Parts: sequence; structure tokens; C-alpha cells
Amino acid sequence: MNKELLLEKYHSKFADTSLAKGVYAAPGRVNLIGEHTDYNDGFVMPMAIEKNIRMVMQLRNDKKVKAYSLDYDKLIEFNIDNLLYDKENIWVNYIKGIIDELQKLGNKLQGFNLLFSGNIPQGSGLSSSAALEVVTAMAITDLHNIKLEAVELALLAQRAENNFVNVQCGIMDQYISRLGKKDNALLIDCRSNQYQLVPFANEDYQIVICNSKVERGLVDSEYNKRRKECNQAVDFFAKKLDKNITALRDLDLDTLHEYKEELSDTVYKRAHHVISENQRVLAAKKALEKNDMNKFGKLFYESHQSLSDDYEVSCQELDLLVKLASEEKGVKGARMTGAGFGGCTVNLVKKEFVDTFVENIKQAYYENTGIDTDVYITNPAAGARKLEK
Ligand code: ADP
Ligand code: MG
Repeated sequence: MNKELLLEKYHSKFADTSLAKGVYAAPGRVNLIGEHTDYNDGFVMPMAIEKNIRMVMQLRNDKKVKAYSLDYDKLIEFNIDNLLYDKENIWVNYIKGIIDELQKLGNKLQGFNLLFSGNIPQGSGLSSSAALEVVTAMAITDLHNIKLEAVELALLAQRAENNFVNVQCGIMDQYISRLGKKDNALLIDCRSNQYQLVPFANEDYQIVICNSKVERGLVDSEYNKRRKECNQAVDFFAKKLDKNITALRDLDLDTLHEYKEELSDTVYKRAHHVISENQRVLAAKKALEKNDMNKFGKLFYESHQSLSDDYEVSCQELDLLVKLASEEKGVKGARMTGAGFGGCTVNLVKKEFVDTFVENIKQAYYENTGIDTDVYITNPAAGARKLEK
């Protein structure tokens, strides 16, 4: 929704308070490569997408917050000093979480009205939740003149999701939503929280996202299992090796291989995925720097294979989408993206073949599964920002 229309909607819901007002946007993201590496102190490389959440916010003279979600057509009112978890309107908890974390830092906030709308598919692994947190944090801090460095804002948004919404996410989603830059991917080191923009402005290629539309049902229990299995590998090597091992990040494939017989098949495979995936992220960064799209795409396929065979977090539909993509002209790489068991695939497609790719994959996926896939074509987009006049 464009800024003018959003303001119009705002004014039809709320009287102008004549206090500071602004319009802000924060994008969703797709993880290009680096899956299940974040909680192993490893590397990830997402990019922001051309889908976002936009929010109008205006300060009030009292302590009330009136939050209107256009997409849910729902107005929620609460007092800024009385933040309670809302079991029915989950979306408002992301906003309350941001307020809570800002207050924990000692900021004295006044009330405000807000209205927002987004076009990031929710719950599909494109991180609509981080976009909502980041856009809210940016709006509140800007209107209150609170100076918060970009990284600090991203970390605050992560804490809001961890503490108030109660979802134990890593830093990737909030980082990329805040720090993303047009024509760039973002390499993040999940151990040090350091990051680096990686130029990705190849005019001949586009990123195409295919939504399997499969609900990520198993994801929570399986996610916890994978974390445990990774920890088992770390514990094993911490005892075996004369070296400080605190995460799979500290291991290489040769060492893993050396001890293969002493590890269970499952633990070996999980560790193999994480260690090799970290290498692929760093190789992908190099490939982007050299503008080597063949290599970049090949790493997508390898990542998918590893997620499917070693980490076992793919599903039939994701495997099918990747296989169908690999049979299409102009496709350099395809892989599942996000935690798995559903959600989306990310595809690197030569621009001139994008239209046929979309048409063919929609048709073939439907014929095989009876599901209509949604497809999103995007370039690396800008991170959160204020929309100026
Ligand atoms: P993901 O971040 O992968 O999209 P999550 O389950 O983490 O999935 O976050 C989705 C939640 O974020 C939604 O259930 C909703 O509460 C909130 N949300 C995202 N986009 C919007 C929107 N446009 N309007 C209202 N709430 C939204
Ligand atoms: Mg999320």
C-alpha cells in the first residue's frame, strides 16, 4: 500500500493529534544461504525483499496506544504502562514487546496511534514478524527522538520477540530487516553479531521465491531435536579434542570425518550439514564478490541436498519445487529456505527466463500436488526506513 493511501486510511480512523507523525517501512527477507547455522554460532546470508510492512504512527498527549491492523481490520487499545500479553490478537504482542524493551532501557514513552499494513506472507519463513517489530521500533524511536544505532535496534527487536512474544529466534531476521540495503545481501556472523554487506546487483538475474504453501507443522519439535543433536556433537568433541569447542562452528569436516565411527549416524549427519553449510555461506560470499552466478547457484543446490539428506528438514513438496526448478532453463540454483518442513524455496533465475520459469513451475507443482504455489520475484531491497514526503 502506498504512503498516501496509508495516510488516508489513518485519517479515516484517527483524528489528527497535531503531534509528530511519520510513515515507516520495514522489509521481510529471504535467506539466500546458511540454514540452521545461526544457533551453531555460524554464518547466514539473507537479503531483504521487496515486500514490507508500512506503518503510520502519531504521538498522543496521553499514555494510550491505539493500534490498528488494517490486514486484520482490528483496533486494539492499551495503556503504555500496562503491557499484557494478548492471547487473541497475537500481532499486537510484537508492538507491545518493542514498547516493553524500550522502556526497559529507561526510555519514557508517551502514547501514540498507529495503523499498519503489510504484504509479506505471514508464517511462510519470509519473516513478517521481524518486519513488524523493526518498523514499530523505528517509528517509536524516531518520533520520540530516541537515538538507537541500527544494530542496537535490531537486537532490541530480537529481544522483543524472545521475551514478550516468547519465540526464541536468532538475530538474522531483525538484522536484515533493519540493515538490509538495496542491491546487497548481508553476511552475518552469528557468533560475534558482526555483519558485512555483500554487493548483489547482477542485472541479468533475479531471485524468485516459491511458496510451497505447506504449513510448517513439525517445525518446533524437530527444531528442538536438531538443536539437541548439534549439542551432542559439540559435547563429544569438547571432551575428545584438546581445543576449546563451544559450537559446531569450531569444527572442520576432516576432524568430523576422523571420528565418524564414534558418532551415531544421526549426529554425524547433523554436524556434517552445519559444518559444510558454514563453508558454503563463505563460498557464496566469494562467488557474489566475483559475480560468479554459476558457482553461487551451485551452492544453493548443494545446500538443499545437505538440508534434505543430512539435516532432514525438507519435505516432499520442497524437494519437488527444487527438482522442478532444476529442470527449468535459466535456473542456476534452488534450495529450501527457512527452518524447513514447509515454507518457501529460493531460486536464482536468469532474468530472460523468469516468466517461463514462473509459468512452468506453477503448473507442474499444481499437477503434482494440487497446490497453487505463490511466486514472488524480487531484487535485494532496502532495509527499514522512514518514507519521506
Ligand atoms: P514469519 O515471521 O515467518 O512470517 P511468524 O509466525 O514469525 O512468521 O510471524 C507471523 C506473525 O506476525 C503473524 O501471525 C502476525 O501476528 C504478525 N504479522 C505479520 N505481518 C502482519 C500484518 N501485515 N498485520 C498484522 N500482523 C502481522
Ligand atoms: Mg518470524
